[in-house]
Amino acid sequence: MARHTGAACRLCRRENLKLFLKGDRCYTDRCAFERRSYAPGQHGQRRGGKLSDYGIQLREKQKVKRIYGVLEKQFRRYYSKADRQKGITGTNLLVLLERRLDNIVYRMGFASSRDQARQLVRHNHFTVNGRKVNIPSYHVKLGDAIEVREKSHKIPFILEAMETVVRREIPPWLEVDGGNFRGIVKAFPNREELTMPINEQLIVELYSK
Ligand code: SF4
Repeated sequence: MARHTGAACRLCRRENLKLFLKGDRCYTDRCAFERRSYAPGQHGQRRGGKLSDYGIQLREKQKVKRIYGVLEKQFRRYYSKADRQKGITGTNLLVLLERRLDNIVYRMGFASSRDQARQLVRHNHFTVNGRKVNIPSYHVKLGDAIEVREKSHKIPFILEAMETVVRREIPPWLEVDGGNFRGIVKAFPNREELTMPINEQLIVELYSK
């Protein structure tokens, strides 16, 4: 799947928010956002111009795409699917994004960022219910068991991520058994459990125009 390949820290500076795209580095004083919390580029320090309603909606959509590492076309597909589902479209959209296998691997603490999780999934390090799955966008279902394959138990990236996961919490809707390198999707998150500062209603307004 195509993905953003530019400098991740520029994205945080552009969105004026820590998006936690670089794993452990995001929690240290090497975080570029902590050091330069203005937009990148020649005119970055002149942030502050008033955005139109459209501009605000657009920025919110860009922010969510960047958090989950999804490009426009696929993001639009998630939106269409969320819109067809029962319930609140914005919440449906976030839950669909959370159900991606790369996100689940990251949330379970087997990778230190979604980007790293995507790579590890692609390289066949995980199974879902005992079957090898190497598609980062694979949608997990309730009760799915995600496991690090036995041959991958010594992969340094995975071990490091499992050690440092204490810096962020494993969400209550996932159950992780680190000793056995596995986790279960106990539930899907409800809106209150998704704590990133996201106003998904702005995305709904943008796509409803
Ligand atoms: Fe964003 Fe992490 Fe880079 Fe900080 S270190 S700017 S949080 S990607």
